[in-house]
Amino acid sequence: MESDFLGKVAVITGAGGVLCSTMAKALAAKGAKIAVLDLKAENADVVANEIKQLGGQAIGVACNVLDKASLHAAREMINIELGLCNILINGAGGNHPKGTTSKPFFEIDDLNAGEDLKTFFDLDPEGIKFVFELNFIGSLLPTQVFAKDMIGREGSTIINISSMNAFKPLTKIPAYSGAKAAISNFTQWLAVHFAKTGIRVNALAPGFFLTEQNRTLLTNTDGSLTPRGNTILEHTPMGRFGEPDDLTGTLLWLCGEGSKFVTGVVVSIDGGFSAFSGV
Ligand code: NAD
Repeated sequence: MESDFLGKVAVITGAGGVLCSTMAKALAAKGAKIAVLDLKAENADVVANEIKQLGGQAIGVACNVLDKASLHAAREMINIELGLCNILINGAGGNHPKGTTSKPFFEIDDLNAGEDLKTFFDLDPEGIKFVFELNFIGSLLPTQVFAKDMIGREGSTIINISSMNAFKPLTKIPAYSGAKAAISNFTQWLAVHFAKTGIRVNALAPGFFLTEQNRTLLTNTDGSLTPRGNTILEHTPMGRFGEPDDLTGTLLWLCGEGSKFVTGVVVSIDGGFSAFSGV
């Protein structure tokens, strides 16, 4: 097999989840050795086993991206079993209900609303902190640990996962929007910082993909769209949600030789959502 990825070691956090497990399989199919990292050990093992059944090489690694000791232990195990890291994908991320308002717009009467309504004034700092830590610190710490394997080795790449929220915040989710904006900013910062080391740093900004995290926000139990799901599709010129596999072409390009002079970009994969003014 001729491939940029043959024998390369890809460390993917959150790879027990929907989007990153698909990325893991795409890199494995090109000959990369995959470290499937996830907080949920059993999910990591399931994905690693699926890759092995498809003829690829992978190990499942239980790892908390917010805990440096856990990351160091993961690196040690990966270095022994697979080798030094060439590709890091910072995939672990997500939102939390405590960082989310009930309504998109605040109305004057909401000041006297009961407990059922979560307004801006009720947002719990712990919920906000959780979201900032998971998305931002949860990308920074794995980078501190795994980029040490990559310094001075041409062809090394780091991929962060941003979001549509980073360009313009979505209603109701200020913490997630702010945290993903920080990821886009960090991607540029790190691309500059590492530009002389052989490491390129880029990000994917997926549009709207139906996953377990957002299924109840976007669809009802019978599969029909919620009002929010409908609004999203109305603002997606291509008229559909993304499929996890829609990410893989851009991922392979950004991790491979074809993008060897590309660093610091955030690529939207969104069916035109970020280009559309809505009119
Ligand atoms: P997912 O919930 O399926 O996957 C996230 C995975 O991260 C889970 O397996 C979870 O166990 C793991 N995780 C959570 N906390 C962790 C921790 N502390 N340490 C290690 N692993 C941890 O979500 P997904 O939809 O596949 O999202 C993957 C990435 O893509 C996230 O960064 C998300 O914010 C981003 N994203 C998703 C969408 C979408 O439409 N689904 C859009 C834009 C960006």
